[in-house]
Amino acid sequence: MRAMMPRLAPNRPEDSAPSGHMTALCTHVAGERRFLRSPQRARSFERRVTGSEHGARMVEPLVLQLGVVTTAQLAALGWSKWQIERAVQRLVLVRIRPGWFGQSPDADALAAARAGACIACFSALRLRGAWVPQGSGAHLRHARHRAGARCRPFGAQPPVRSVVDDLGTAVRSAFRCGDREALVVVLDSLLHRRLATLDELRTWAADAPARIRDLLAVLDGRAESGTESMVRFRLWRLRIGVRIQVRVLPGMRVDLLVGERLVIECDSREHHTDGAAYERDRERDRRLVARGFLVLRLSYRQIHEDWPAIERDILAIIRRGDHRFARRNQR
Ligand SMILES: [Zn+2]
Repeated sequence: MRAMMPRLAPNRPEDSAPSGHMTALCTHVAGERRFLRSPQRARSFERRVTGSEHGARMVEPLVLQLGVVTTAQLAALGWSKWQIERAVQRLVLVRIRPGWFGQSPDADALAAARAGACIACFSALRLRGAWVPQGSGAHLRHARHRAGARCRPFGAQPPVRSVVDDLGTAVRSAFRCGDREALVVVLDSLLHRRLATLDELRTWAADAPARIRDLLAVLDGRAESGTESMVRFRLWRLRIGVRIQVRVLPGMRVDLLVGERLVIECDSREHHTDGAAYERDRERDRRLVARGFLVLRLSYRQIHEDWPAIERDILAIIRRGDHRFARRNQR
């Protein structure tokens, strides 16, 4: 059955890490030799269930990690209909609903499959590596459209054929579901982590309304954290000119620079909790202040919970003109 293994080969190097679920499914295929059909018969089964010999050959490692697969995906992995039945009888596979099976399924994936849906939109983007703010809830896309459902893409509505939506469908759903700030944060992270290009985002936004398409001009893949994207977007909405990742001193880039001297550093919870970072940040602040910069260091919590106060302070600094170097101070 090793001949089946190349079908699991990942498309991209970052997908190559094997997972427990993937191993389990593969081990089962290898361990049940006497039940396996010939590759020709597996292909014939695949044709019957997918309508195409080539339609569902590849099953993403992410799907196997989530532990929920469809009959077509099992066929693509080389399982015959009979093997599937046998595995269900032996409790190796659990039938979740007709055509959908689980093996040690992830709780969210199981809930989605039970609901006749797939993991979609922001939830799918998080699974696919985007930075998605906490507390955005579970985003599902249902096989049958339900009135009022938030998570469905602008444009073509693809059928639910896998437990998690592909990147393009997830982005197209997020365009409809998210507010503009959440979109900037998540799309910045897709660009920064090279999970998507701006051209791809433009293609996916083709059916979205103008207020969403216009947002693409605000995106910046240089943004290094979600909090930085958030603050940049809020300043942009206030029409405050801001530059990002500016090299202000030799060997030192700052997150955001307003005017010439107002430095805004946005701490993301993930990166600024260890002792070394604490020391480094204080050294940076000292060097910046010594050269005449004003430094506002904002914590993740403050950005999320105290923004009105931060906004008032930034506007007060700008009104006084303190974001510019005075003539006599010019370096
Ligand atoms: Zn959604």
